[in-house]
Amino acid sequence: MASRDPATEPSEALKALQAALPSPCVRTGDAIRYQASLDNLRLSHLPEAVVRPRDEEDVATVLKLANRLHVPITARGAGSNTTGAATPIRGGWVLDFAEWKQFEIDPVARMAYVQPGVTVQELDTAAREEGLFYPPDPGSKKYATLGGTLACNAGGLRGAKYGVTRDYVYALEGFLPTGEFVRWGADTKKYVSGYNMRDLWIGSEGTLGIVTGAVLKLLPAPGAQSTFLASFETDAAALKVVRTMLEQGFNPSILELIDRQTSECFQIWAHKPDRPEHLFGHPIISNFISRPGAYLLIELDGHPAEVAQSQLRLEELLRQHTEKWYNAQNAEEAEALWQVRRASSQSMFQLADTKLNEDIVVPLRSYEALFAYTLELRDRIGLGTPTFGHAADGNFHVHIMYDRKNAEQALRAEKGIHELMAKVVELGGVITGEHGVGLAKAPFLSLQHSPAEIRAMRAIKEALDPNGILNPGKIWEPFKVWEHPREEVRLPWDH
Ligand SMILES: Cc1cc2nc3c(=O)[nH]c(=O)nc-3n(C[C@H](O)[C@H](O)[C@H](O)COP(=O)(O)OP(=O)(O)OC[C@H]3O[C@@H](n4cnc5c(N)ncnc54)[C@H](O)[C@@H]3O)c2cc1C
Repeated sequence: MASRDPATEPSEALKALQAALPSPCVRTGDAIRYQASLDNLRLSHLPEAVVRPRDEEDVATVLKLANRLHVPITARGAGSNTTGAATPIRGGWVLDFAEWKQFEIDPVARMAYVQPGVTVQELDTAAREEGLFYPPDPGSKKYATLGGTLACNAGGLRGAKYGVTRDYVYALEGFLPTGEFVRWGADTKKYVSGYNMRDLWIGSEGTLGIVTGAVLKLLPAPGAQSTFLASFETDAAALKVVRTMLEQGFNPSILELIDRQTSECFQIWAHKPDRPEHLFGHPIISNFISRPGAYLLIELDGHPAEVAQSQLRLEELLRQHTEKWYNAQNAEEAEALWQVRRASSQSMFQLADTKLNEDIVVPLRSYEALFAYTLELRDRIGLGTPTFGHAADGNFHVHIMYDRKNAEQALRAEKGIHELMAKVVELGGVITGEHGVGLAKAPFLSLQHSPAEIRAMRAIKEALDPNGILNPGKIWEPFKVWEHPREEVRLPWDH
């Protein structure tokens, strides 16, 4: 929290910034600083100022000053990350790119030239008008910016078939913390000159450089899609179908598993006066969620003939494992099936008012062990551990639910999260598969990495950012999120 009001008592650094840029670019009002003080983790730390650069020259000016005067810089897109990565925990200046919305598509080269504030959905929608699409599809795509998704190497629902953000980047350009312009890669399809700094920036959470432009890869849009929802008595039965699908060579664009604990949350919700009618009012869905079970949401895509053939094979497979499955007959029905997945996250608040939201990954060999463990953990700590996630790539969102004002529950949640992370590593997995480290995962970094690995990573940070101005406090410094009060604030993606 800034100790003084920058509007009336600006620091010497802020005075220098205000002298260097026109006043509309440097905002110090309370409302705008509050908005930039938090992200989807909902911990608030006020920056001294929010800077809205007009162009690259402004970015260079800000960074040169900040580097000279040792002012923390936190780049910001939509603030939708869930780890506190965009929270300006050391104050300083937030560099806000939300208005950097220009982009251009080259349909022949199948490339997009983008500024960082373009949202994933804006790019994908425009690409589809050209018969193309941008495959990385985080659940937040309506809001998340390309700058933020590049900095987090965001994944999404179609990750197993189409990969993650990193797989769609030809080039990045932007600035080192010194304010020097750099370009990593080009708009060419191959590039192996020098070290691969482009990939080092991707997923570095704004700690190594500031992205002001990117060249991204687009793919031809699939000609057909087919969406299924299937329900099973137990998580183990749903996992059996996942395994069989993979063994039989299915390559679904989406294979989402929603566990039985999550569907029990739907049940509680269904009986509340504020139940969402779009979910419980639709006949297809109300049939599915009439009693708890584990669900699989499956989407096949590709050439129409290929989809038709896979669809028949999948129907046959589902028939062997459950009586309860449905294949959407049109886009409206597919959207209805999707509501089950979309509502999963919100439905968990029937259990408690706060969640520790993890995005761990385990190898295929450990799926069954992980799901058995979430139930074991639930019973041991006495807190709900509802889980859903991307079953084709092993990236599961395990949640630990607790009431934030109940200190004893918070302690159990803390114990649970430590145990979960240790178990994930023991199962050969990873503590984060798409959200990144930020503040929330920092305490677990040493479970994942050896001292030598951490030393190597920190050496890179120190070499590129010797004054430590880019997003300080993130990744490396243990931070106990569960000890910090969350802001009760409505964010754009809250429904
Ligand atoms: C409802 C919901 C669903 C979600 N679903 C998914 C999902 O399916 N998959 C997934 O991966 N994530 C998901 N997320 C998390 C989030 O949307 C992603 O982490 C996304 O990448 C953040 O983008 P943003 O524009 O909001 O970035 P911000 O939150 O603003 O910033 C994220 C990080 O990027 C850095 N950054 C931002 N812009 C720049 C820049 N120009 N240069 C350098 N660094 C920069 C910031 O400093 C910060 O470290 C979800 C979030 C919500 C709220």
